[in-house]
Amino acid sequence: MEKREFHPTYGEIKITINSRARNIILRAREGIIEVTLPPRASRADLLAALDRHGEKLLGQCRANTPATIDGSYKIVRENFSFSLQQGGGSRYLMRYDGAKATLLYPATTDFSDEKTQELLRRVRTTALQHVAKEHLPQRLKMLAVKYGFSYNAVSLRSSRTRWGSCSNRKNISLSIYLQLLPTHLSDYVLLHELCHTVEMNHSASFWALMDKVTDGKARSLRRELRTFATAF
Ligand SMILES: [Zn+2]
Repeated sequence: MEKREFHPTYGEIKITINSRARNIILRAREGIIEVTLPPRASRADLLAALDRHGEKLLGQCRANTPATIDGSYKIVRENFSFSLQQGGGSRYLMRYDGAKATLLYPATTDFSDEKTQELLRRVRTTALQHVAKEHLPQRLKMLAVKYGFSYNAVSLRSSRTRWGSCSNRKNISLSIYLQLLPTHLSDYVLLHELCHTVEMNHSASFWALMDKVTDGKARSLRRELRTFATAF
């Protein structure tokens, strides 16, 4: 069972009652606080839990609120950049220069309009997709040749939950969000999937192979990768 209510301090709260939950679970998701309650939890329990953790979660909610994309918005990463510039026309126009995407927007654009923000977020993803398509398959091929791996096919996904995967038919799938990572970490993921063409598991021999192709840095690269999010 799920419901939403409004708390004077913490704003909109999504409450789910889950018969399997043993404790009250609170988390910040998509800009609001979500609470999972065991069936027996009372209203007082809920309010006490909010008092304990609400402030911290509210901070996370604010941090997770997507940044407004306007004329001054900019993403600058090693392998992808996206910025906006007012154009002369009455339509949006994307310009690419290698890994650099510039969106020309009409002078009449209303950045405060939520529909416009939605459109701009979609356009930003399209730009990332475009640059990733140009870059990632080539990079995979280069690394495969360099280290003597072979794979069947490569495809790109807009996955935010996985950086990549490799099927037992040696089809490699890569997330377009890899394009937001520094090269050494994106390469780590590509090599990880390439190693799966030889070792389909995460056994000791898999990690030995990973170490061979990363100068013994496989585990430290994996740790470093964990600090990056699959998002903008
Ligand atoms: Zn793996």
